[in-house]
Amino acid sequence: MALTGIEIYKFLPKTNCKKCNFPTCLAFAMKVAQKTVDIGVCPDLSPQAKAQLEAAARPPIRLITLGADKSKVEVGNETVLFRHEKTFFHPPALMLRIKDTDAPDAIAKTVTEASAYSVERVGLSLTLNGFAIDNQSKNGATFADVAAAVRSKTDKPLVLMSTDPAAMEAALAKVADSKPLICEANKENWGKMAPLAAKYKCPLVVSSPDGLDSLANLTEEIAKTGIEDLVLNVNTANLSASINNLTLLRRLALKKNFRPLGYPVITFPGLATKSVEEEAVLAAQQIDKYAGIIVLDHFSPALVYPLMTLRLNIYTDPQKPIQVQQAIYPIGAPKENSPVCITTNFSLTYFSVAGELEASGFPTWLVVCDTEGLSVLTAWAAGKFDSERIAKAVKALNLAEKIQHRSIILPGKVAVLRGELEDELKDWKIMVGPPEAMDIGPYLKQMWKP
Ligand code: SF4
Repeated sequence: MALTGIEIYKFLPKTNCKKCNFPTCLAFAMKVAQKTVDIGVCPDLSPQAKAQLEAAARPPIRLITLGADKSKVEVGNETVLFRHEKTFFHPPALMLRIKDTDAPDAIAKTVTEASAYSVERVGLSLTLNGFAIDNQSKNGATFADVAAAVRSKTDKPLVLMSTDPAAMEAALAKVADSKPLICEANKENWGKMAPLAAKYKCPLVVSSPDGLDSLANLTEEIAKTGIEDLVLNVNTANLSASINNLTLLRRLALKKNFRPLGYPVITFPGLATKSVEEEAVLAAQQIDKYAGIIVLDHFSPALVYPLMTLRLNIYTDPQKPIQVQQAIYPIGAPKENSPVCITTNFSLTYFSVAGELEASGFPTWLVVCDTEGLSVLTAWAAGKFDSERIAKAVKALNLAEKIQHRSIILPGKVAVLRGELEDELKDWKIMVGPPEAMDIGPYLKQMWKP
């Protein structure tokens, strides 16, 4: 969590010597807090004070990077308990568990399908984030071969699941370039797992079945060896334990600044449940609060798509609606005599209208007016979708140059704007479309005469 100027000031020499080109230490501290100057500019700051300052400024939940290159995923570094306080920053990675006892062909098919699975929603591409290879065989060579086989089919991040350090090293030797998450160290094996994390520069999952106190002791021991990229595995085996432990960890990190448990959490909802439906419910709870990595046991669009959509909804900034740019969007292959519809730049509105127009088979020009990401009625009520704004957009986008006719179709929900818009756009005919996007196709068939 960012330190305030006063908190930073406490670490400074307080001599007001001006060597930093600021009149006082306090003035310097304020600028450091605003991140406009680096703390190193003060030449008299002792190494101990600098180290303390850096430790105090560390995020309460460590940012962990999974994987390497373009497909890498970041988790952790959250700063609030509730989304409405600010926003959640790093969506939980949704991964799929692959057992190393499954047939090679089945593994290749599942990984290829799940890796390519992608859904377009409000202009964003929703995908799964990686694969967790589970050493069910208890055989190091098999584990390593399956890890390599999965790696050959995907560049998404991997989790290596084994408590056997020898099996883990065998797999790491084959896929360490992808920076997999090592899962996991416990009080019996951490002495061998931590050196592997150090050797291969990979993040490490830490688990303790004895509760949060012993888990905190274990992370402290491991951190003393210099391994700081840790992920926690706590009891999330049912809804009650899951929400309880995940909330406790988030509160300890943010409210108590408790460093030993200030790491993202990995969960396995499929391991803990008896059906896909139960897995979906538990995973949904963990998306809401407060998992960093969720390893699913099943891959099917019916399970994954709703979870990805929920994740998108929870991890959008509540103060910044998802928007598309103000522009004229061709739907189909519109020509000079094609209809022109107007809508707002709230993504969901845009994609609903664009989807219905596409489905109607009517090539159309869709003019999107900048309403700061608000939907039609909300924007109208907030004074951000009025005749003046629409007229401005029509002129700024040079709509007249794209079409021969001079007709615009307003959303039916703002039919009240018709008269004012006729005053703003004197040469244009203003038509009123249906209130709901789903009726736009039948409306065009009936009403549009180029
Ligand atoms: S150089 Fe350091 S000690 Fe001197 S005024 Fe700046 S912050 Fe204070």
